[in-house]
Amino acid sequence: MNYTTVIGLECHVELSTKTKAYCSCSTQFGGKPNSHVCPVCLGLPGALPVINQEVVNSAIKAGLAMNCQINRVQHYDRKNYFYPDTPKNYQITQQATPICSDGWIEIELASGEKKKIGIERIHMEEDAGKQLHTKAGTLVDFNRSGVPLIEIVSKPDLRSKEEATLYMTKLRSILEALEVSDVRMEEGSLRVDLNVSVMPEGATEFGVRAEIKNLNSFKSMEKAVEFETARQIRALEEGIERSEETRRWDETKNETILMRSKEMANDYRYFPEGDLVTLRITDEWIEAVRQTIPELPHEKAERFVASYGVTKYDASVLTLSDELACFFDETAAISGDGKAAANWLMGDISRLMNEEAITAGKLKFAPQDLHELTVLIREGKISNAAGKKVVEEMFRTGEKPGELVERLGLAQVSDEGKILDVIRQVLDDNPRVMEDYRAGKTKIIGFAVGLVMKASKGSANPKVVNELVAQEISRRAEV
Ligand SMILES: [Zn+2]
Repeated sequence: MNYTTVIGLECHVELSTKTKAYCSCSTQFGGKPNSHVCPVCLGLPGALPVINQEVVNSAIKAGLAMNCQINRVQHYDRKNYFYPDTPKNYQITQQATPICSDGWIEIELASGEKKKIGIERIHMEEDAGKQLHTKAGTLVDFNRSGVPLIEIVSKPDLRSKEEATLYMTKLRSILEALEVSDVRMEEGSLRVDLNVSVMPEGATEFGVRAEIKNLNSFKSMEKAVEFETARQIRALEEGIERSEETRRWDETKNETILMRSKEMANDYRYFPEGDLVTLRITDEWIEAVRQTIPELPHEKAERFVASYGVTKYDASVLTLSDELACFFDETAAISGDGKAAANWLMGDISRLMNEEAITAGKLKFAPQDLHELTVLIREGKISNAAGKKVVEEMFRTGEKPGELVERLGLAQVSDEGKILDVIRQVLDDNPRVMEDYRAGKTKIIGFAVGLVMKASKGSANPKVVNELVAQEISRRAEV
C-alpha cells in the first residue's frame, strides 16, 4: 500500500528587537551570563511587565507579509510550568487570541507548480533562559529569558520533506527581508518543531501525529521526516495502536526518541495574563506597519527576471538570501545585464562562500569589482579560466580585479602579431601537423590550437588563436 505523509511545522522565531518583550533589558546575544536581567525578566515578586511596541510591530509585519488577518483585539495568556530556566514559572504567550491568523505563503515545487501553504496562526511569546551543565553543577543564564519570539504555525499542508524544506527556505527568506529576525538556526534564533503523520494514499482522515522537537537544521528536519514516516508506516502495517506523542530528534543516533505520550501531556492551565492590558490594534497602526514592508523575495525575483534578463530559476536562487539578492541587484544595476553576474554569484562565488561558511554580506569585494571582472572577460582582456583565478583571489584578499590580472600575469594576448609568432614556432616544431593536414586529416587543426594555447601558457585569446591557426595552416598547405 502507498502512504501519504502529512506535515505541519511550528517555527519559533527570535525577534531582533533591541530590548526584551516585557522589560527594557538588552536582547544582545552572547553577553556575560546574567548581565542582561532585571526584576521583570527574573520574575521577582511585584515586578510588572510592559508590552514592547516593536514586538507587536514585528508580529504584524510578519503577518502581513504572510497574508494573514491581523486580529484587532487581543490579550496575553500565562502558560504555566515549572522549569529552572523560567523564573516566573509561567511563560507569557497568546493562547486564545493570536495576533495573526489564516494566512499563507507560496512555494514552488520542483515541477514548477506553485502551492499555497496555509499559516494557521502567528502569536507572540517569550523565550526561556539557558541551562549550562558543567562539572561544578548546573548553572542558569537568564540573559535569554524574556527575549521576544513569534511562533508561526503552518496548517498541515506539506506532503514531503522536500516541501517542508521549500517552506522553511521561503519563510526564512521572508523574515530575513523583513529584518524582524536574523533567522540563524545555528544560534537558535529560528527553531522548528515538526508534526508528522501518515495515512493511506487517498484517505481523508489524518493519521495519529507525532510532534518532534529540537530540530536545528533543515538536514535534521528532513531526516526526522524520513525516520518518522518509516516508523509510522511500520506501526500501521503491524497494526500497532499509537497515541499522539512528543518525541525529540537525536542527532547522533539519527532517530526520534519518545519524550512523552498524550497520557503524560502537560496541562499548562492557561489563564489570562492580568498584568498586561488588552491590546487594541487600529487600522491606522496596521497601515503604518504595512508602509515599512520592503520588497519581498518573490517580488524581487520577478523584478530580476524583468529588468536583468535572468531566468526564473536563477532569480529564485538569487533571492533565497537577502544579502545575496542585494549584492546581485547592485552588480546588475551597474552593468545593466544580470546574466554574467548571476553566473559568477551562483557558481564560483557561492562555492567559495559555502567552503568558508560566510554570507554575501561578508564578501571582501564590492559589486563594482564583480562588474569589472565581467567586463574584463567580455572585452577579451582575460579568459574565462583566468577569471576563475581572479575571483578566487578577490574572494580571499579583496584585491581589485584589474590589479590581480597584472599581478598574476593573466592578461590575455590578443595581439595578432605576437600570437602568429607562437603559431609559426609551434608548426615548425611539429611537422606532423602539416603532414596530417595534407593527408586530409583536418581535425589536426584542433590539436594545433591546443599546442598554441599551451605554448602561450593560456594567455592567448582562444578566439584569435582559432582563426589564426586555421589561416596559417591553409596558407602553408597552398605553398
Ligand atoms: Zn529584564
